[in-house]
Amino acid sequence: MNKNFDLSRVLRPHILNLTPYSSARDEYTGKEGVFLDANENPIGSATHAPFNRYPDPYQQEIKQLLAPVKGVAPEQIFLGNGSDEAIDLLIRATCRPGSDNLIILPPTYGMYEVSANINDVEVRKVSLTEDFQIRPEAILAQTDAHTKIIWVCSPNNPTGNSIDGDAIRKLLDEFDGLVVVDEAYIDFTAQPSWTNELVNYPNLVVIQTFSKAWGLASLRTGMGFASVALIAVLNKIKPPYNIGGPSQLLLLEALRNKDVVPAMIAEILAQREALASSLTALPIVQKVYPSDANFLLVRFNDAKATMNYLVDEKIIVRDRSKVTLCEGCLRITVGTAAENESLLQSLRELAGA
Ligand SMILES: *Cc1c(COP(=O)(O)O)cnc(C)c1O
Repeated sequence: MNKNFDLSRVLRPHILNLTPYSSARDEYTGKEGVFLDANENPIGSATHAPFNRYPDPYQQEIKQLLAPVKGVAPEQIFLGNGSDEAIDLLIRATCRPGSDNLIILPPTYGMYEVSANINDVEVRKVSLTEDFQIRPEAILAQTDAHTKIIWVCSPNNPTGNSIDGDAIRKLLDEFDGLVVVDEAYIDFTAQPSWTNELVNYPNLVVIQTFSKAWGLASLRTGMGFASVALIAVLNKIKPPYNIGGPSQLLLLEALRNKDVVPAMIAEILAQREALASSLTALPIVQKVYPSDANFLLVRFNDAKATMNYLVDEKIIVRDRSKVTLCEGCLRITVGTAAENESLLQSLRELAGA
């Protein structure tokens, strides 16, 4: 429980008082009628299917289907143009440029810092331990009256591990700003989601995405889960029609088809375990880190040479060897059985094995 948290102190004052843009679809929400209010083309579209009408600005149908899947109320869901939009809006809602700050825990996902930089917001860094866990005391020691957000990524990108629950809970209990837990990879771990704790923590925000387990990266849709009050603020400051109509249609299709997702996850997990053990057996591999995600962080004897060799073979992985605590490491997304076999084949050739 966090009893000190006061959303109105965390929000920027002008955001608290803002009058949002009122769209045509805000002012009349009925579905039947002669619609002459939004300057749309009444005749049709230059496509095979009609997309001439503006989409639902609040994506109500999607939230109705998504809420029971996630165990939250529809009013606790924000949908954004990628998680990146949620990240940006959380910063803009809370951090005054040039005076407020936020804390990130490297090595971690790059967008928290990029988004802070775009918004001219100070970034404080508290690195993970050698075993990629967070240090709650050190993090809390970096906070001051201007600290608005602590970003935790669990399972963490690029390290792949889940962050200790008691450590996250300590941040939630003792920090009176927002604790954002980015769960982009939650579907690949047996760890419970922090969405279960939204009832206890008004300062908790959970971010998830349709880009990974759901296989919908191209739709650009991220999810934010938080208190009804905070979600209302995000809805107030987002671009009015931030999720396009085609994306909304396909998200509805995905939610109706959601039973296909567990089998894809199971296949990816099986491939992850197989790939991890094959990589471990290679003499050019020093270490395969345990993963709760759909990728592996792998330390090679010579990461640069390995990266170059793979690129020549048209196998593209992510070079993380310059990242703090990830020296010598490549991040490898788990592919299909055939893709993983191509990767292993190339690595065996490189190793002369
Ligand atoms: C992939 C990823 C996301 C997803 O971003 P989208 O904008 O929703 O595609 C978010 N956070 C982390 C840590 C990721 O690795």
